[in-house]
Parts: sequence; C-alpha cells; structure tokens
Amino acid sequence: MEFLEKIFEKLNIPKIEDFRRVMVVSPHPDDAEIGIGGTVAKLSSFGAEVIYVMATDGSLGTRDPNVPRESLALQRRKEQEEAAKVLGVEEIVWLDFEDGGDYDYKKVRSYLVNLIREYKPQLILTTDPTLRYEFHPDHIKVGRAASEAALLYQFPHFESPKPKEVEKSVMAIGYFFTSKPNTFVCIDKFRNKKIEAIKKHESQMGDGMDVLLWYLSEKEKFHGKKVGCEYAEAIRIMPIIALHAFAEGEFI
Ligand code: ZN
Repeated sequence: MEFLEKIFEKLNIPKIEDFRRVMVVSPHPDDAEIGIGGTVAKLSSFGAEVIYVMATDGSLGTRDPNVPRESLALQRRKEQEEAAKVLGVEEIVWLDFEDGGDYDYKKVRSYLVNLIREYKPQLILTTDPTLRYEFHPDHIKVGRAASEAALLYQFPHFESPKPKEVEKSVMAIGYFFTSKPNTFVCIDKFRNKKIEAIKKHESQMGDGMDVLLWYLSEKEKFHGKKVGCEYAEAIRIMPIIALHAFAEGEFI
C-alpha cells in the first residue's frame, strides 16, 4: 500500500469525496471555480457543507485602465456569489485584502485561524504556495497563510489572549494549481456546473477565456485517464501532520 494511503488509514482520514465540512480558501474570485469547481460541486451534491473564504477583492483583475478598482471589486463580488451558488456553496466570507496589495500574509493567517476555530472544517482546499513558477503573490501568500493556519489553529495559545480549548477538526489540506497532485477527483457528472460557474465571472471573459477553457479540458482529460474517467481535477492532499517536521511530505 502506498505510504499516503497508509497514513490516511492510520489517521482515519476519509477520501476527498467523503469530507462533510470543507473550507475553500481562495486568493481571488474565480480561482476556486477554475481550480476545483468540479470537486466543489461534487462535495456539495454529496451533502458536504462548503464555505468559501475569499482573501482579496479581485480589484486588479482588468486590463482596462478606465475601470475603477472599487466598481470592479463590487462586480467581482456579485459574480463570485453567483458562481458559488451554481456549485452549491451557500456562504462566502470576504477578507477584502487588496488584490495584488502589499499586505502581510500573517494578517490573512490570523483571520483564517479564527475562521477555522469557528467553522471547524475537516478539509481545507487552497492554492499550492510551493508551485515553483507561480508569480502571483496572492496565490503564494494565501496558500501559505492557509497552510500555516491549518497547523497553528489547534494550539490554544496561538494568537489568543484568552486561550480556551480548541476543537481539533482539520484532518487534511488539499492544494489546487499544483504540479505535484496525488489525488484525482472524477468530475464527469459535475463538469457542466464547473463551466457554468466559471462563466459567471463575466468580468474575466476576455480574449483568454477560450484558451483557458481549452486548457482546462485538456488537463482534466489527461488526469481523467488516471482514474478511468473522462475528466478529473488534480489535487495534492496532505494530512495535517505532514505539514511540520515530516520529511516524507514532499513525496506522498
Ligand atoms: Zn487567482
């Protein structure tokens, strides 16, 4: 048996489809739909409660200098709400950091620690902060903030002037936009919803959209072959114990 499966069995960590409380931590509106829209739709349809945490306001997402940031942020908020609805996500928490801004990732981490303690997710899905050729700072900072929060929330003294007992809920973290996937989620029945949700992001429907949809389809077909499906999304799932002093983390 593969090492990862052994760890999951030992720690009683369910298969990704079987998690019931899931928190998706996204740098921008649209990342979750593009990266794991099918998985989110699948989880929701299986009865999971999925909550989105949107780190930034998406206000950098235009090449038109005449579009003010404030109005773009409002539009993207509306688009994200509609996209989330398509995938069965009821709640979005907006942290409203400035898209591409010079914020400290530790501020994002603080919010996430509190949200994890409050919502008690079993699984956190976020962007892979170790992706070597990722140069959008929000993707690196937010993925890192979510990873550290997933580790540190469980210590009552962490950022807590009045420490009280913390319920340990998070079993695993799953990275999308990753070059080292170890889990492939069949999305054949949910791909239509994913595409519908992506298209709700009308402000992002510029020239590149056709290429993006083609790229996603090719990628999903490639990953689908690994699990006998037409389309699959690729995720790197890590048990939380692998996020600290765990040399095999890179290889599981
Ligand atoms: Zn993004």
